[in-house]
Amino acid sequence: MDRKLFIKSMALLPFIGKNMKLQELHNITNTLAATSKMPVLFLGHGSPMNAIEDNEFVQGWKAIGKTISKPAAILCVSAHWETKGTFVTAMEKPKTIHDFGGFPQELFAVKYPAPGSPAFAAETKQIITKTEVGLDQQWGLDHGCWSVVKHLYPQADVPVFQMSLDYGKPAQYHYELAKELALLRTKGVLIMGSGNIVHNLRMIAWDKISTQNYGYDWAIEANEKMKQFILNNNHKDLIAYTSQGKAFDLAIPSPDHYLPLLYTLALKEENEKVKIFNDKAVMGSLTMTSLMIG
Ligand code: ZN
Repeated sequence: MDRKLFIKSMALLPFIGKNMKLQELHNITNTLAATSKMPVLFLGHGSPMNAIEDNEFVQGWKAIGKTISKPAAILCVSAHWETKGTFVTAMEKPKTIHDFGGFPQELFAVKYPAPGSPAFAAETKQIITKTEVGLDQQWGLDHGCWSVVKHLYPQADVPVFQMSLDYGKPAQYHYELAKELALLRTKGVLIMGSGNIVHNLRMIAWDKISTQNYGYDWAIEANEKMKQFILNNNHKDLIAYTSQGKAFDLAIPSPDHYLPLLYTLALKEENEKVKIFNDKAVMGSLTMTSLMIG
């Protein structure tokens, strides 16, 4: 229990009768400790244009941000940072990376000047035993991270650091690695996976691009099945995503946008609730489905 919670618990003491059992006191303090844990997010980020638009998805991110107490830092696991080995950004001032092409100049002009967190980066390196985590000084914040975080914290006053996806490793490995991040939740770090659970850019329905919330049958099917697995705590089948049939194969043609979901789910404790939001399809072959755990 941290100091603040201890003080809170002590404040309850005058209301505790003489006969109250020690166990009951433990239960109270455990409840307080549990509420001090930061939630975990998975955000479907979709088009980079969401960074500068105000639409239903942006509203969804903003609304969820308002339910979370201000974090000490944000650790973002973005679909857009794949490396050989695992790295965390460890610089004081991460640059805003515009890792896309063919978008309006307005989008390239966006800067998200949140500070980094060399201290939490070092701590992350320390708590992970599964692999040697490298401290990176080159990357910065890619659009998978800043295009959503900027809506949650527009003042850019919360330190943000990223963790890369090791492209050489299978889903099970990522899931196990993510579990080792759990301690950060108790230290005020908001861990956030950013990707899209259904994401097939080759199959975008260009003729339906202006049709709101359009999804191919297979995209809806995969999205629904994934949600059922998530709500039933069936992480096993989500890890074995390559064995779930045609709809999953089309929804996840490459693992980059899907793996951040596994990072989020790995941090779920058994009795924690999952809130699903932004549960809509766009452009035929993407879903914006997002979740908050805890
Ligand atoms: Zn993306």
